[in-house]
Amino acid sequence: MKTWIPDTRKFAYLNWKQVEALPKDKTLLVLPTGAIEQHGHHLPLATDTLTSNLLLGRALQLLPDDVHIYALETICYGKSNEHIGFPGTMTLSAATYMAVLRDIGASVAAAGIKKLLLFNTHGGNSALNDVMARDLRAEFGLRTFHMSGGAGAKLEGVAPQEGKYGFHAGEVETAWLLAATPELVDTSAYTVNYIARIEDNNVLSPENGAVNFAWLTRDISPSGVLGDPRPATAENGERWIAACAEKAAAALMAAYAYENHYMP
Ligand SMILES: [Zn+2]
Repeated sequence: MKTWIPDTRKFAYLNWKQVEALPKDKTLLVLPTGAIEQHGHHLPLATDTLTSNLLLGRALQLLPDDVHIYALETICYGKSNEHIGFPGTMTLSAATYMAVLRDIGASVAAAGIKKLLLFNTHGGNSALNDVMARDLRAEFGLRTFHMSGGAGAKLEGVAPQEGKYGFHAGEVETAWLLAATPELVDTSAYTVNYIARIEDNNVLSPENGAVNFAWLTRDISPSGVLGDPRPATAENGERWIAACAEKAAAALMAAYAYENHYMP
């Protein structure tokens, strides 16, 4: 899989003596969590995994040389059962996914390393990363963190409808790949579907409402797209990648610098 993660930041490129010699209390390992799942007619199955490699890689490129922050290999299979029924979608069950994270956390702890950050680019993984960050803290005493690859960056120029309901294979993901892997975007095959409209302002929402309904993509979108890819440009993609990378780099440095704080 294509990656932008520098070789010097790849944990798996170290040998065990180098791991043994790491400053254990400070070292931060980053576990990227992506997906292999349908992304409409115009984006590849690997979109979320490529996006992870891209956003994390660009963030790691911004770090000072002397910090001990390393990327583990990406878990490219995620919990993607919202996209079942579309050929090519690979999904782990929640139980399997959490078991994989638990065992990797156990291995990190066994190496004596204290800090692990879950870096996620697939929405279906978010709730499980939240659960596992806490469980790994409780079970192994790891200092854990979890974040989304976008790192809360403000993406200038995204329309409000797309910003709120462009969940999947819409403008932002398409722009990222137009900038990074244009050969994998079929610009002649765009489709548009929204799960809800912001002007409806419904009590019942797909996410972040007073009451949420659980959704499957096939309930809403025959093409698999939840959003509108048509306004996407490589120029915006590059600007947004840079904005996310800057925020993510700051988040990684904050996690690296974090020490326990106890309330008196
Ligand atoms: Zn995606």
